[in-house]
Amino acid sequence: MEKKLYVDNLSFRYDRELVISGVHLEVESGKFVGIVGPNGSGKSTILKCIYNGLVPETGEILIEGKNAKTIKSKEKAKMLSVVGQENSVPFNFSVREIVAMGRTPHKKLFEPDTEKDKEIVNAAMEQVGITRYADREYNNLSGGEKQRVLIARALAQATDFVILDEPTNHLDISFQLQILQTLKESGLTVLSAIHDLNLAAMFCDEIYVLDGQTIAAHGTPEEVLTEELIKNVFHVECAVSENTHTGKRNIMFISHTKN
Ligand code: ADP
Repeated sequence: MEKKLYVDNLSFRYDRELVISGVHLEVESGKFVGIVGPNGSGKSTILKCIYNGLVPETGEILIEGKNAKTIKSKEKAKMLSVVGQENSVPFNFSVREIVAMGRTPHKKLFEPDTEKDKEIVNAAMEQVGITRYADREYNNLSGGEKQRVLIARALAQATDFVILDEPTNHLDISFQLQILQTLKESGLTVLSAIHDLNLAAMFCDEIYVLDGQTIAAHGTPEEVLTEELIKNVFHVECAVSENTHTGKRNIMFISHTKN
């Protein structure tokens, strides 16, 4: 199967201390791959090394077999779209304008939007339920609304690989499920940092668990999300069972175990 992403021996430091060290991960075409791990374990840092030009200390990053260092930004923007953590933008762009930015890599400088671009932007807004906010200012939206705008922008970019950094942390359960289900059903290749282990269990084909600067475990949710691993990595006592409706792992949290 084609590899969308191949990361090997990735290490990175912001200043003195290594934040991640010797990370290996791979994403095959069409898979939904999650990265889970405690706060500050380096999930965002790994993703930023892949999409945001953070320069690693060691390691190799190949996107569709090409060295990420040599891929020009516009070419990269046609290969992968990114939903980072919700942020503000310096000018008062409307929701529609932000979503339309997803079309930029497909256009020449200053080329006006075509009817097709407009259709794609409208469809993306519809898909995440933000059509009625189209003319509102992005900066005045709530965290969850902003997050949906950024997801729509990524959909408008129409790449077949999407990287998400905790894409649903501001969304209520209905939107969390809607967004993840949309991504899953789209057949896109997805690499996502996810902090909710039950959502990771529901949607991921494979999970990488990050702990102590490196990958502590990798496998299907059934292989990885065990009571023992959750206790070791997250310091939480839990009971793992099978969800009789979905057939997926169900994690019931009991208590924190670390003083
Ligand atoms: P996660 O996404 O798993 O919560 P991060 O990748 O954001 O983790 O952070 C990993 C570690 O790197 C944390 O200890 C964090 O404090 C540190 N860190 C993140 N960003 C910066 C930065 N810009 N400068 C210095 N340290 C940073």
